[in-house]
Amino acid sequence: AAAAAEATRRQLHNQMVELRGNIRVFCRVRPHPHSAVRCLPGGAALALAVDGREHAFTFDKVFGPSTAQAAIFGEVSELVQSALDGYHVCLFSYGQTGAGKTYTMQGTPDPAGAGIIPRAVELILARVQALEAQEWAYSLEASFIEVYNNTLRDLLADGAARSADAGRITDANAIKHDASGGHTVVAGASRVAVAGAGHAAELIRRASEARACAETAMNSTSSRSHCVFMLYIAGAHPASGTRLTGCLCLVDLAGSERLDRSLAEAERKKEACSINQSLSALGDVFASLSSKSAHVPYRNSKLTYLLQPCLGGDGKTLMFVNINPEPASANESLCSLKFAAKVNGCETAAKGGARRNVSVAASGGGGGGGSGAGGSGW
Ligand code: ADP
Ligand code: MG
Repeated sequence: AAAAAEATRRQLHNQMVELRGNIRVFCRVRPHPHSAVRCLPGGAALALAVDGREHAFTFDKVFGPSTAQAAIFGEVSELVQSALDGYHVCLFSYGQTGAGKTYTMQGTPDPAGAGIIPRAVELILARVQALEAQEWAYSLEASFIEVYNNTLRDLLADGAARSADAGRITDANAIKHDASGGHTVVAGASRVAVAGAGHAAELIRRASEARACAETAMNSTSSRSHCVFMLYIAGAHPASGTRLTGCLCLVDLAGSERLDRSLAEAERKKEACSINQSLSALGDVFASLSSKSAHVPYRNSKLTYLLQPCLGGDGKTLMFVNINPEPASANESLCSLKFAAKVNGCETAAKGGARRNVSVAASGGGGGGGSGAGGSGW
């Protein structure tokens, strides 16, 4: 019976992917006393004022500044759980520095402020406990990888919180895709068995300190690196001979802002180029996937190569575009929204070039919880 249910679920998933592609975009607007953004009724559209002109955008969902962390997680929990069923699932946060990317992914230490990473680990641990009562055996292993200037660093390496050089992965071919499970394996990076929610919190804290250490070393207040949390999930049910391998990747991307040209010295310039390059490489991958191009340029950046199993095949991707609504950031916000609209709209480029235009009414008026990611059409 379980196998039949699983087959039905796969079939529905495949139909959904056929219909809508495997990429969804949610927009989250952070609080600010002065706002150039209006969230429009229906929960899927917003308008941004730039120099007295309004630009409207529609996404799968739009969350206004009062949306709590728990409510955000409610919208992604089903997607997160599908990693237990053997899917490769990836959630990104994209946007300029200060827009709320780290807040969305990691959050703050108080329980109400916890972001997607701690909540996802907690949910998966709870589900695993329930499944173990039904004779499933699961193993959960976590990695935290930083991608900076197209080089990798193991944020869980010994001493990574004290020295920005600790954990650097020098092997240029460290990223490997294991054929059987379709996993990404990073040679030389720690993979730590997750012992429980408290242990997971400790790993998250260590990774965050290691990331901050590199930023301090660069004398940078903005995040110039991508931070990739990977949870490798392997499940086995000996009685039925079922084996599942899934992966959950939660990615806090580097700030998408252009650096002020007058400030860009040689090193900064190289860095800014590399950031733009990997974000535009990500955009190129989305575009090729949506046009069902025979060649998808995953190998153009470490970031996309690392995430390949989630981006293509039977992977599922959700991108948050984080917006700081302050009027002074309106131009950067416009850039972020345009990037996200391209990601969101390109799916239907394959179907005769018509840009998908989700009607506000059709996309579920306010998206009341309940089915979680069901509202995002998975
Ligand atoms: P980024 O990682 O994109 O640079 P942060 O996540 O660090 O931005 O957010 C910048 C600041 O705004 C932080 O102090 C963060 O706590 C706060 N913040 C961001 N989003 C929200 C939100 N939705 N609600 C409350 N505070 C937020
Ligand atoms: Mg950040």
